[in-house]
Amino acid sequence: MTKKSNVNLLFFRAWPDTIESRAPLLSALQKIDTSFLMVSQHRFPDAFTTFVSALESALKAGLNTSTEKRADFKTLLDAAHKMHPNFTSIDSSQTRLLRDTRNTFEHFGFSPKDDSQSARLLLEIGVQLLDDWLSQAFALPLLDRSEKNGCLDWETGKHLRYSMRFFAKQAKEHEANFTHSVYTLGHSIRWRCRHSYMSDWESELANDWSAQADLSHHKKEQLQRLWLDHWNFDCPVCGEYEAFVCKLGDLCEDLQLEDIVIKEGLCVNCDFTLSPALSWMAQDLCSDQFEDALRGLTNA
Ligand SMILES: [Zn+2]
Repeated sequence: MTKKSNVNLLFFRAWPDTIESRAPLLSALQKIDTSFLMVSQHRFPDAFTTFVSALESALKAGLNTSTEKRADFKTLLDAAHKMHPNFTSIDSSQTRLLRDTRNTFEHFGFSPKDDSQSARLLLEIGVQLLDDWLSQAFALPLLDRSEKNGCLDWETGKHLRYSMRFFAKQAKEHEANFTHSVYTLGHSIRWRCRHSYMSDWESELANDWSAQADLSHHKKEQLQRLWLDHWNFDCPVCGEYEAFVCKLGDLCEDLQLEDIVIKEGLCVNCDFTLSPALSWMAQDLCSDQFEDALRGLTNA
């Protein structure tokens, strides 16, 4: 895999040398960029349908199908299975659901009621299927499972892995809102692309590190006054040192250390916010730092 200066991608760090000669592979990766941008804008059905288009383009590129030849999703998948019989463990009922849902959105539109299902299908079927295909056809895994060889950039890969982990957790719940599974992915992209949405003067202000540090300090003091029992962690999204202020459950004298839990959290640098309904996510994202803090108390 190499990186070429004339290939314009947002969330990738590497791609095959053949990207420009194996059409429509470049288009597939650009659609994945667009799908992630749609996640950051809370347009989950749009993100889902764009991701399925990316999958179709990747299938065509891997199969060396002419871009002018029309081939539906099922035909492409059948050909992919013929070329690589064991390329995925996703079964035909799941791929049918993916295709039918995409077709319904394409023909009839969607509503906010479709948000959770879109996030679910994106993570449960779409990401897995595309990752399996890119690995087989291009030796190019989408997800950085080994933390060494994925084609997404490090931040995007990290947050997509979080999304898959949160999805696995939420899939055991009854009536989960699966948009929560892609919550950090969306916030990370909004944070990284924030200057694109700013006017010049806003961008200049955002780059004034001294003013931003004062603002963060002021917000942290306010939060710490509001949340008497709190711990500060490095932010799991922007990475700022001790900027993610977390409210702890009520602490009392006879409380055991193992009973200390995070109730909610807010980053004073990037405004990443986890409400009490998402305390489980705060606990998960801060688990290593949380264990360190507990060990510090034990050794005190
Ligand atoms: Zn942050």
